Amino acid sequence: MLFLRAFFFFINRKRFSFCVNWFIIFKRLRFGSMSKKIEKIGVLTSGGDAPGMNAAIRAVVRACAYYDLGCVGIYRGYQGLIDKDFEELAARSVRNIINRGGTFLKSARCAAFRTEEGRALAHQNLVEAGIDALVVIGGDGSFTGALRLKEEHGFPVIGIPATIDNDINGTDYTIGYDTALNTVVDAIDKIRDTASSHNRLFLVEVMGRDAGDIALNSGVGAGAEEILIPEEDKGIEHLIESLKRSKKSGKTSSIIVVAEGERSGKNILELAEIIGTKVTGYDIRVSVLGHIQRGGAPSCYDRVLASKLGVGAVDALLKGESNVMVGITNRKVTSVAFEIAIKKQRPLDTDLRRVLNITTI
Ligand code: ADP
Repeated sequence: MLFLRAFFFFINRKRFSFCVNWFIIFKRLRFGSMSKKIEKIGVLTSGGDAPGMNAAIRAVVRACAYYDLGCVGIYRGYQGLIDKDFEELAARSVRNIINRGGTFLKSARCAAFRTEEGRALAHQNLVEAGIDALVVIGGDGSFTGALRLKEEHGFPVIGIPATIDNDINGTDYTIGYDTALNTVVDAIDKIRDTASSHNRLFLVEVMGRDAGDIALNSGVGAGAEEILIPEEDKGIEHLIESLKRSKKSGKTSSIIVVAEGERSGKNILELAEIIGTKVTGYDIRVSVLGHIQRGGAPSCYDRVLASKLGVGAVDALLKGESNVMVGITNRKVTSVAFEIAIKKQRPLDTDLRRVLNITTI
């Protein structure tokens, strides 16, 4: 009976839309997305550091100054949110940092923020400091944390993608990727000199647990013979055959670029040993590039990208956007929901793979 009454009440369209509107207003009030005027923005860097993070912080701080908003720097990522490690930043606080690698706000991995209690404390600290919205500069892990903060406390957050891996969905490039790529190509060029002087075959390990962008692009850019990447599982035999073919065609030295997350299930030393037993005529060496890939002054491309996205993040917050990452698509700053950004589904650039195959003949 009650159900029937409710049914007849709701089939009246006017009443129905009245109820729906109030439901939406209630939800917005409950979760805070009915844009509260933004007067003070917090900014932090989180997760793996990347060259260009400083340039992104600078752009956020300067955009706040431009719009006459307060800006608070939060040290050590989410850990600083929990420890209330805050500092007011003005336009001149970020002078002379656009050219510096790393992040002056420091970055951290914070286990406490993975818990509801940790996020509740972080939220309380934000509110107590009068911060109305947060800009998170980091990778997909940091965006997942930001998403939780939004879901549980309705706190407005905008993400800026900064990771050397270029493994974020919804942006053509992430801050730090271009610099890392140039560092890798520079290192491989140097390795090539010694490889060709001694008829050596070098296996060079580069970063990329889930994405082969660095390996594929540096492989093409540095003229590598082969690449091993997480997106493909061609098997060791394929690699051996390719090396034998190139030896037959007259090559006397070779470079193979191996991404950390490649799929053979062997580590790079084991791979070198297997190749050594099957391909003759090369002196086989291994070089793991490691953390040099994260360091160094950001390239001009990364500085410009970071500046665009830093300003874009503050613009987005002022337009009432939240729960999104600002990215770059066809040179334009775009917004994409965190839920989409954190999906690991960037397809392999098959055109570039083909280019590598052709140019290494
Ligand atoms: P990145 O942002 O470079 O991918 P991480 O994956 O280490 O780096 O994530 C950075 C931080 O983001 C973590 O230390 C943690 O504080 C937070 N974080 C990551 N995943 C989650 C999650 N599922 N829930 C809450 N916080 C998370």
